[in-house]
Amino acid sequence: MKLGIVGLPNVGKSTLFNAITEAGAESANYPFCTIEPNVGVVAVPDGRLDKLAEIYKSEKTVPTAIEFFDIAGLVKGASKGEGLGNKFLANIREVEAIVHVVRCFDDGNVVHVDGSVNPIRDIETINLELIFSDIEMLERRLEKSRKAAKADKSAAHEVKIMEEVIKVLEEGKSARTLELSKEDAELVKNFNLLSSKPIIYVANVSEDDLVNDGADNENVAQVRDFASTEDAEVIVISAQIEQEIAQLDTDERKDFLNDLGLEHSGLDKLINASYKLLGLISFLTAGPMESRAWTIKKGTAAPQAAGKIHTDMERGFIRAEVIAFDDLMAHGGSMTTAKEKGLVRVEGKDYIMKDGDVVLFRFNV
Ligand code: GDP
Repeated sequence: MKLGIVGLPNVGKSTLFNAITEAGAESANYPFCTIEPNVGVVAVPDGRLDKLAEIYKSEKTVPTAIEFFDIAGLVKGASKGEGLGNKFLANIREVEAIVHVVRCFDDGNVVHVDGSVNPIRDIETINLELIFSDIEMLERRLEKSRKAAKADKSAAHEVKIMEEVIKVLEEGKSARTLELSKEDAELVKNFNLLSSKPIIYVANVSEDDLVNDGADNENVAQVRDFASTEDAEVIVISAQIEQEIAQLDTDERKDFLNDLGLEHSGLDKLINASYKLLGLISFLTAGPMESRAWTIKKGTAAPQAAGKIHTDMERGFIRAEVIAFDDLMAHGGSMTTAKEKGLVRVEGKDYIMKDGDVVLFRFNV
């Protein structure tokens, strides 16, 4: 589950990425994540998990994690192979979603590649490279599909959809703006288009503009307008401040944020939004040994969720004993009381897990 950080040069990508790797240093216990120099692993902040660990006096608290991939060096002309264009586009193809950093801070000391701060021009520059690359790929594919369509009806439909997508792309719009039926959306998903990947825009502002979530910054307003055309979320951060925050320990961090009048760091907001963007939810397990959050895709059934913990649990799955986190808290976090009130449900193999389920799986070995 990887997100790629993209953006023009000098917008603050490395600064943000450094904050990510710095913050991620604590979460060195993620054996399932491959650590590469340009991949940062961060814990997904979850207040529910902290609460469970407190109630159960857990020895260990293990949050879930996501990975960010620093895709630096995307410049105008990348789709034509400028710079290391093809390599970067290939990197984007590998990620599940995109974090697009946009410069919204004014700073005479930091040169802008195009001479001035203009978030919409920047967004369009990057998006167009992805769009060009998609058009090229689709046109190659279209040729083959047209041949196949002569004998095959489903290929004929594919041709029609491809032509529709190309038309939208040629208007300079990303494929994610297309409104499609469920089946056609599936079809388009298989094309693995760069411009259809889910996206979050990060508006990188200066410290002064952090108040009111960037409401006083005209550049941020423009980014918000643009993002709304794609139904995309905008997270306002100051990469520089995030880098400072990431170096502090937990208590200092709270004080620092308080001084800035903020409840959560921008990075925490970005991580949580990214998690949601990927369609991920967490279920929780709790006990004196450890309290832990586990990542599943929305729509995952109980046995497959159990399989995240151990394959034996999926194979020998009998039932899940489940309580919603909020229901547990409504009874002071006491499992015994919650059980007496009948709030702990016994669920079978067809149960679809919900975000915040606190679970005990029963299984045969
Ligand atoms: P990248 O090329 O997109 O990776 O950009 P960098 O992260 O290297 O940032 C480029 C320059 O902008 C560096 O000198 C940073 O210190 C500066 N910078 C990054 N974020 C901010 C910010 O929020 N405010 C200000 N004033 N400068 C920033």
